[in-house]
Amino acid sequence: VKQRASFIKKVKRALIQRRDEMDNKLTAHSQEEVTDRGTHDSGDEALSLLMERLQTSLQKTEMNELHLIQDALVRINKEEYGICLDCSDPISEKRLTHFPYAARCIVCQEALEQ
Ligand SMILES: [Zn+2]
Repeated sequence: VKQRASFIKKVKRALIQRRDEMDNKLTAHSQEEVTDRGTHDSGDEALSLLMERLQTSLQKTEMNELHLIQDALVRINKEEYGICLDCSDPISEKRLTHFPYAARCIVCQEALEQ
């Protein structure tokens, strides 16, 4: 159990670091967006529209990840992290190392996806 706690502490640190990175990136994105406005001339419009769309979908993916990080951090704070939401079995550290946002054990996750 002690080993598990230190593992979760490590995960928490990594998650917080990742969240800060994402925060910085998202803030940078929205600042870029503001400074970009008004600088496009008509010839660049199609390209800038494409870039805008690309950026929006990028931000969506990043927002999704940010939500997953937040969820994982909430579970850590509630001491529910690493416990399967469905069957309450502990999720293996191997799985959590690969998928730090995993909220279910591999068996329940597979059942959910089918
Ligand atoms: Zn399970």
